[in-house]
Amino acid sequence: MITIDAAFDSGNIEVRRITGADDIVLAIRRDHLSEFYQWFHFRLSGARGQAVTIRIVDLAGSAYPGGWPGYRAVMSSDRQHWARADTSYDPAADNGTLTIKMTPDSDQVWCAYFAPYSLERHHDLVARIGGAPGVQVDVLGHSLDGRPIDRIRIGDGPLQLWLYARQHPGESMAQWWMEGALERLVDAGDPAARALRAKATLHVVPNMNPDGSVRGHLRTNAAGVNLNREWAAPTATRSPEVLCVLDAMIASGVDGAMDVHGDEAIPHVFIADFEGIPSITDKQLALLADYKARLVRISPDFQTRRGYPPSGAGKANLTMSTNALAERFGCLAMTLEMPFKDNDDLPCPVQGWSPERSKALGRDCLAAFMEMLPDLR
Ligand code: ZN
Repeated sequence: MITIDAAFDSGNIEVRRITGADDIVLAIRRDHLSEFYQWFHFRLSGARGQAVTIRIVDLAGSAYPGGWPGYRAVMSSDRQHWARADTSYDPAADNGTLTIKMTPDSDQVWCAYFAPYSLERHHDLVARIGGAPGVQVDVLGHSLDGRPIDRIRIGDGPLQLWLYARQHPGESMAQWWMEGALERLVDAGDPAARALRAKATLHVVPNMNPDGSVRGHLRTNAAGVNLNREWAAPTATRSPEVLCVLDAMIASGVDGAMDVHGDEAIPHVFIADFEGIPSITDKQLALLADYKARLVRISPDFQTRRGYPPSGAGKANLTMSTNALAERFGCLAMTLEMPFKDNDDLPCPVQGWSPERSKALGRDCLAAFMEMLPDLR
């Protein structure tokens, strides 16, 4: 018998109908107390050797309908290696239908919007990195569901660098990026990491939104709040996740920051800038241009031609973290966006954008920071 399950860490799907391998109709659950939906993650059982057609319907109202054309779902039979499935999108069918076709070679296949990064893996990461020499881990606060907001501190230099991810929990590539960056930071044989650790103190929050991650949300916390619109005035009742991190940033000061995200629609890696903040300085703009130029040279997966249009002078949304930090601290504060689809300049037919490439980009972003440290303050 064919069954669909999603009652696990970051699972999200509703079964509308299963009448056979060629007629599996599903829908995505909304984030709790929110209108957003786009993240899905489920297990298909009992279809080994059968040609399966899965339809996810009602996607016209999803958070980013522009994310579906050109998108391919990820699937895995061992939950380690995630490959892309044959996927197509028809905006006219059943209010927007994503059709996924596969012939499983195993009894169970996992299928998701992007390679999941579970909360258990988060704890494994914190334990592993936290056990390395010279690393400290502390709890900055708790989420609404009572989960810890973990901060990993590495290095003892005077410059304060903050790296944080998964304000939007469905953007799991952001935590794969974190895994790559953290592994590099604790590599005793890596000269760039050693230089960084000597000159800077790195504050790393690998998961800003553990509740949304576990609940299988795209964009919000347990109260349906988009954390990246809370940075002007976070509160203990709506957004304790932001409140505790911002308090820690104020305590340490911030000389540089990177907020790591995924973008549903744009098939490129890019940095969203902060040039619309009221107090923007020539130095901040020069640092931003310098960082981008260095990262372009270091990583063929990064580019500067495609991205969000710049916000007009004085028009920046100060509820968003990097705008808020650039304004408050006068520093370089960047939003890094990776694709859910692929980097179309360097596509990978098998995997598309992947955990492996996210991790490589995390390592490369550190190298760009390392080169720029003398200029940051
Ligand atoms: Zn995001």
